[in-house]
Amino acid sequence: MTNLEKIARLAEESKYDVVRPEMDSEEEFDLQKVSILGEGTKHDVCASTATPRIVKGIDRIGSVSSAGICHSFTPDGRCVSLFKTLYTNKCSQDCGYCPNSSSCGENKTISYTPEELAKVTLSLYQSNYVEGLFLSSGMGKDEDLIMESLIESVRLLREDHKFQGYIHLKVLPGTSKDYIKRCIELVDRLSLNIETCSESRMQEVTSTKDYRYDILRRQRYIRDLSEKMDLPAGHTTQTIVGASGENDREIFESMLREYRRMKIKRMYFSSFTPVERTEFEDKENVSTGREHRLYQTDWLFRVYGFEPREIIAAFDEHGFLPKKDPKIEIARHVLDEAVDPNEASKERLLRVPGIGPKSASRIVRARKEKEIIKRRELAKFGVVLKRARPFLKLNGWKDTTLDRWMT
Ligand code: SF4
Repeated sequence: MTNLEKIARLAEESKYDVVRPEMDSEEEFDLQKVSILGEGTKHDVCASTATPRIVKGIDRIGSVSSAGICHSFTPDGRCVSLFKTLYTNKCSQDCGYCPNSSSCGENKTISYTPEELAKVTLSLYQSNYVEGLFLSSGMGKDEDLIMESLIESVRLLREDHKFQGYIHLKVLPGTSKDYIKRCIELVDRLSLNIETCSESRMQEVTSTKDYRYDILRRQRYIRDLSEKMDLPAGHTTQTIVGASGENDREIFESMLREYRRMKIKRMYFSSFTPVERTEFEDKENVSTGREHRLYQTDWLFRVYGFEPREIIAAFDEHGFLPKKDPKIEIARHVLDEAVDPNEASKERLLRVPGIGPKSASRIVRARKEKEIIKRRELAKFGVVLKRARPFLKLNGWKDTTLDRWMT
């Protein structure tokens, strides 16, 4: 039995125990619906976060502080799971990689009603199978109608059923400002997928979406409204890596624009996988290694505080990241000589492969007490010596391979 079938069955089995009296517990869940619409989100990436929602009133159900993503870890190390599903698999758009695209011909249309979706979510949540909901959707025939249904689903959960679990809602391209405002009142996190890194790249994957009007303008609405209202886990976006022939540098530059101009909380990457019957079914699969290296650049920018110009040094002449760790390539370019842990600033220590924010802080703290003499002391601070050695000098010792790295 697949996980989704299991989820569907768990929802089915638990409904008589947990569904609130006002819900019709005699109605059967459509297991196929739960399974197919759940499967439809497999390329959507959602966020790991742990932002508490303020509790108002005492008649709430469930945990009020839980938040996170499907089978992933919060920053505090807790594994959480969300019920991740599409509302409908019907879509009027023609994205070349998507099995729900209108260009794939007639698919069997499957949709929830808001009541059904609320019921399945509540059943899973109250039985402790999930800690929240990640809700995405095709755009149906009329995106306004679908957006209204998405809002009604989360309204039912939040207001009628006092649901305090985490809700991450995908905003459909072209959604009005009023609907976005209503979404912010109800959910923890919003996201709107940019899917590609520029207007011209978007034209390579779809003829129906307008990058500036449907995507960027709506992101600005989310940004502006969330500055005035409470959106506890912020807003995020996602791009499909390699669907439109773009290189890593184009993606990296769009990521910078998203962080700086749109004030997103996180950028997610999903490597392109060809799906049968779609327009892009014959395109080559993109390795998850490429996705991973892009996440490394995101981490270096966001967490390590690297300047974009430093990260750009890691791209090759075709705009792609090397197959090895980009931090090693960056170190080759930005470190002009070996780094002495007893003298280097925290920022400079962070440029050494194998030294992260925690180990850099520990080194700076420890050397105030006493000089670092031996390399093995560094290991105690969390330094990965195998990676850091070529870039370090300590107490008269210097790795002989340094020159090889620097050239
Ligand atoms: S908008 Fe594009 S990616 Fe989203 S469901 Fe429709 S066809 Fe698929």
